[in-house]
Amino acid sequence: MVTLVGRATGPPGLLGRVDDCLFCKIVSGEIPGEIVHTTERTVAFRDLNPQAPTHVLVVPRDHYENAAAVAAGDPATAAELVTTAAAVATAEGHDDYRLVFNTGADAGQTVFHAHLHLLAGRDFTWPPG
Ligand code: AMP
Ligand code: ZN
Repeated sequence: MVTLVGRATGPPGLLGRVDDCLFCKIVSGEIPGEIVHTTERTVAFRDLNPQAPTHVLVVPRDHYENAAAVAAGDPATAAELVTTAAAVATAEGHDDYRLVFNTGADAGQTVFHAHLHLLAGRDFTWPPG
């Protein structure tokens, strides 16, 4: 089950937009974002507080709370988050990159509209912090 915060206003059958969601507002253009790539189902924009030379967030246009909810509700969109991230990495000249879905507050999720972090352009350690 997907937990929504606010009111979904999208077309029937889709979760659509949630009024008080930061990333819904970036998708709609209500709040500015440095958008680097768009597809039918996703929008990619630069993270405001970058943790690597390339740090881009790829989000579904429709509001889902986290990655698992996207995959359960719309597998094509879940796949497109990854293919979009790969396209952005390639466009920015990176063969190697890290993809992260923080899920839940204890795992570091602060914005509850699913987003895939694309991080590239530096070495990464494992395990992550
Ligand atoms: P998470 O902590 O996984 O939920 O990631 C949320 C990310 O959103 C963080 O890396 C923030 O730096 C980023 N962020 C917050 N507000 C904005 C914004 N207005 N535009 C772009 N990125 C943002
Ligand atoms: Zn949203």
